[in-house]
Amino acid sequence: MDTKCRLCFTELEDTFHVEEMMFGIKESFEYSICKNCKSLSLDKIPDNISKYYPENYYSFAEQSSNKLINWVSKKKCANDLGNTSFIGKIIRLIAGRNSNLYAIGLCKPDKDKTSILDVGCGEGYLLDKLDVQGFNSISGIDPYIFEDIHKPNYKIYKKSIEDLVEEKLKFDIIILSHVFEHLEHPKTSLENILKLLNPKGYLILRTPMSMCFAFNKYGKNWFQIDAPRHILIPSFPGLKNICESMGYDLKYYFFDSDSKQFLISENYKKGIPLISQKLNFIKTRFYPKAIYFGLKAHKLNTKNLGDQSTIVFQKK
Ligand SMILES: [Zn+2]
Repeated sequence: MDTKCRLCFTELEDTFHVEEMMFGIKESFEYSICKNCKSLSLDKIPDNISKYYPENYYSFAEQSSNKLINWVSKKKCANDLGNTSFIGKIIRLIAGRNSNLYAIGLCKPDKDKTSILDVGCGEGYLLDKLDVQGFNSISGIDPYIFEDIHKPNYKIYKKSIEDLVEEKLKFDIIILSHVFEHLEHPKTSLENILKLLNPKGYLILRTPMSMCFAFNKYGKNWFQIDAPRHILIPSFPGLKNICESMGYDLKYYFFDSDSKQFLISENYKKGIPLISQKLNFIKTRFYPKAIYFGLKAHKLNTKNLGDQSTIVFQKK
């Protein structure tokens, strides 16, 4: 095989086939495991990769116009960012913690001064939350949006990481939330992000992790392989080693997998595509099976065996 690990460029082994299951196209793609770092790499990126991102791929969340919902959401987000309150803690118990906000909070940002860039931000789901919290220096890029988006207090540009490097822009915090695994050249992107960071700036990566219980249990039916959209699924040690060799320090990390690793993968095993599973907030949190799987996920997270994590690196 010609393809090398897309993270550490070592030989691959143990090739297996994974079907497209989000939309039920069921076309088969080859993935292999790195002999060295145990990351998963898609062997060949399809020429027409955009075919696998149909219009309904992005489930962009609309901002609610309900004042009570907005108030509750604002309290919860403030709590996730580290400004804990009694009400915020109660809401968190019910609704769970937003890992992106929690990770940003760990970086102790100054709402007025800290510049935050969300890479692959879609229509600004996370940035809207930061905007409501009073962050004044936020922006996003997404090469797949139709055109630039001008929100009242911030902008989203139809640009790539490489475009910003050319413009010599700098940021204090750069976040990629479930974006890294979609990049065609992940290592080059990490090098470019380093160029975009101010000294001691932070990179927040939220991504599936290959060395997890769910991949061991479900193999090709583990839903986070998400063929062929996920091009590299790193292992935790593999990602840590590459980043540290490049000039990043690992500052914080936490595994934040949830019941979906079981609920969706069980259905994939039965051949049911995600689009037919009709999962929603209630079904993924409050059904008896979901509660059981949620507790199991929590236990796996404490052992670093959950199927995704949030990692905060700091530029040396
Ligand atoms: Zn590797």
